[in-house]
This record gives sequence, C-alpha cells and structure tokens, in this order.
Amino acid sequence: MGSESKQAKEPAKIPSLASGIIDSHSHVMKEYFGEEQDEIIERAFAENLQAMVNPAVTVDGMAELFDLAARYPKIHIAIGQHPHEAKDWDEAMAQRLEAVLERPQVVAVGECGLDYYYNNSLRDQQLLAFGAQIDLAVKYDKPIIVHCRDAWDDAFELLSSRGRGKLRGVFHCFTGGPEQLPAVNDLDFYVSFSGILTYSSAKEIQAAAPLVPENRLLVETDCPFLSPQKVRGKRNEPAFVWFTAEKLAALRGLELQELAPRLVANTKELFRLA
Ligand SMILES: [Zn+2]
Ligand SMILES: [Zn+2]
Repeated sequence: MGSESKQAKEPAKIPSLASGIIDSHSHVMKEYFGEEQDEIIERAFAENLQAMVNPAVTVDGMAELFDLAARYPKIHIAIGQHPHEAKDWDEAMAQRLEAVLERPQVVAVGECGLDYYYNNSLRDQQLLAFGAQIDLAVKYDKPIIVHCRDAWDDAFELLSSRGRGKLRGVFHCFTGGPEQLPAVNDLDFYVSFSGILTYSSAKEIQAAAPLVPENRLLVETDCPFLSPQKVRGKRNEPAFVWFTAEKLAALRGLELQELAPRLVANTKELFRLA
C-alpha cells in the first residue's frame, strides 16, 4: 500500500476500439506539436483513428496543411479564415481560397464563423468574412466548418439567408445547448462535440448531446486545446477523441461500440471521405 501510493497516477487508458473513429476537427500543426508532430499523428492511427480533418485558421497558412495531407493520406484538410483573423479578409484572400477549393485534399471550407466571446476581429469584419466563405462553400458544393461562440443569432441568420437548403456543414466544438438545436436542425447541420462535453460544468452542452439526431453527430478534439476530463491538463491530441466519444455514448445511453461506427459514417458522409 505504502509503496503504491507513492507511484505517479496511471495515465487514463484511451478507450479505443478496433472498429475505429474519426477526429472531425484537429490542428496537428508544428506550431503546437513541434518535433513530436509525427509521433502524435502515428499514435492517433495506432489508437484506430481512421482519419482526421484538419481545418486552417488562416488562408495564408494553407501550405503546411497541404504538406501534411501529402505526407498522410488519412489527413484531410479544410481551408478557410477563422473569425479571430477576419480582420485580414479581403477580395484577394477570397481568390486565394477559391483557387484551392477544388483540390481533392480539401474536403471543406473552414474553419470560419463568428466569435463574439473573444472579438479579436470587429463584428462587421467577421460577418463579411463568414458570409463570403458561405458563398464559396455553396458555389463549390463543399461542407462548411462553422466556429460559433456567443454569436448564435447572427450565425443562424447568415447561414439561413445565404445557405439554407444548399449548404452542408457542421457546428464544430459545439458550445450551445438544447435551445440552439431547432435552428441547427432547420439548417440540417451536423453537431460536433469536443472535450468540453466531458467537463462537469458543461451542463447545457451535455443536455444537448442526447437530442442531436443520430445521423448528425460528430466528435472532435480541436487539439491541442480542450483536453477531455480524463487527460485534462495534458496537451490534447487526436487519439483523445475516444474520451469524448465515450462520454457522448454514455449521455445517449449507448455503448461506445454502438456509437463509434455511427460517428465514422456521419463524418465520412459530411466530408465525402472515401
Ligand atoms: Zn474553432
Ligand atoms: Zn479549431
């Protein structure tokens, strides 16, 4: 007893299953993982990730994403301009984005959207950049990866007026609650849950989890941020998506082995992955 209690706590075991899963939103960039980048990616595949989708946060950072996709066929990418960076959006940037949207590695437009919590760009700049990216997603028939924080009314308004009925997409790292789901369902959008779902403080998000239609559910890490509760304090990585899937299954009264194949199928359908 004495010697055991002195040992470091065992790291939480990743509840991975052979049937596989997909991290629908991660940022496995050098900026965050440095020399460990390849190791982190290999670990994800060793934990049975079938694929991952890595969205850009800036259009001008796309080169590193194309390089990643070239090195790893199971890494799919999205190109877009994050609302924090909307201040840099202009017509020339729209053209640089448009020029790559038909490349096969690019499975979506994003991430883009509205963030009125941090307000790193002015509201008008955010609306302009988001609206333009909605138009491009419609034009090229690509799904859109939406980042929405404290901006639900504007996001629903813009997505409905410019994309309703002709645009597919996902609210990534969903931070809403049951109140937002009717509008999400009206757009027929997907809802992606991140590690926040596993935090005991996330009552509204947890209340929404059982209410999302089964064919519109996704999971993600948004790594390196938002590590799930069981590995909280550690840098997040794609392999940890299993912890969020495990929590989502519990909240929906399912076994993980029942839910995981559904999540894979949904992610493939949204992003048209092979
Ligand atoms: Zn985001
Ligand atoms: Zn992100």
